[in-house]
Amino acid sequence: MNLAETLASPSWIVIQLLEQCNLRCRMCYEWGETGAYRELHNLAMLDLPVAQRVVAEVLPSKPVFEFFGGEPLLYPGIWDLIQVIRSGCCDLSFPTNGTLLAEYADRLVETGPTQLWVSLDGPRDVNDSQRGSGVFEDVINGLDRLHRARSARNSDFPRLGVTCVVTPANFANIEELFVNCIDVSMLASVSIELQSYATADQVQQYARELRADFDIAATPCAQAYVRDPVEFAAIDFAGLARQMRSVRSLCDSRGVRFYSQPRTLETANIQNYFTANWERMTDRRSRCGVPWISAEISARGDVTTCHTFYDLPIGNVYEQGLLEIWRGAKLKRLQSRLRGKLFPICTACCRYYID
Ligand code: SF4
Ligand code: SF4
Repeated sequence: MNLAETLASPSWIVIQLLEQCNLRCRMCYEWGETGAYRELHNLAMLDLPVAQRVVAEVLPSKPVFEFFGGEPLLYPGIWDLIQVIRSGCCDLSFPTNGTLLAEYADRLVETGPTQLWVSLDGPRDVNDSQRGSGVFEDVINGLDRLHRARSARNSDFPRLGVTCVVTPANFANIEELFVNCIDVSMLASVSIELQSYATADQVQQYARELRADFDIAATPCAQAYVRDPVEFAAIDFAGLARQMRSVRSLCDSRGVRFYSQPRTLETANIQNYFTANWERMTDRRSRCGVPWISAEISARGDVTTCHTFYDLPIGNVYEQGLLEIWRGAKLKRLQSRLRGKLFPICTACCRYYID
């Protein structure tokens, strides 16, 4: 495929299947303390025929797919979509809170998505204070059940990853989680990410820019990222950096892929992140190529390029085909704006910290 053909169709498709979730994790920008969905009266779920049409449109160009939620395993049509995507020889991964893994272990192995990212935020008490009572045990049982289902079918899929979000509530327990509480040998990947957030000033600036450049009146999704860096003042940055490096070494020694956000695990880099000194971070971007390759479809059908830009749709798949939107004037306008400089809210995006 040449460059023109590559750019004519997104090579990375993220589909938010639904907004609903069965948990209320405290730090979640959808359902947590400041979450954007808490006040919604009608939760959206992407119509299965619309999702199937979107997948069929792009499948010939073999993009990488990701699902998103809410909790993707609550979406009734997920099995049809997994089957079509995997039959089309495309990779598919998605995050899950892990509470439904035991129930769906056999079906997951049967349909074989490439990778699941299961969320755990610490040892039992720490995890459950952030994610809800009993969640840790459900997840551990689910991981074990899925591992056994894979072995019984002699299947490699879905590969398993554990993802952990560092917050003021769990920063002291990251190493303990991976050393004492889970068997990392059964995992393909581990990811540790610092809690996403933006300052009130950044979101106000972003809102002003969207109003002036794109005639967008409100930015409720961006607003949900707002946190005062004072909330992170108690974090032991040096201790956290040391723990994350220790988990990285453990993963390296077991052949498990390790990802972190940010990538550079030095004390100053982590301190600069949690004190909103992004311009001093080692890992930072002034440019980003993601809006040239990625389309994200929300459960309401809105299309954007990035997870952080849900307030900035370039079209809606209930009204137009995805490729028509992708080749349209609104995407060109957004790309043109981003060619100059990124939006202030980009520092709340995990891809901002990846080369
Ligand atoms: S499981 Fe995920 S979507 Fe649901 S509340 Fe927790 S972080 Fe948010
Ligand atoms: S850094 Fe900005 S442009 Fe790049 S993926 Fe993230 S939100 Fe999109």
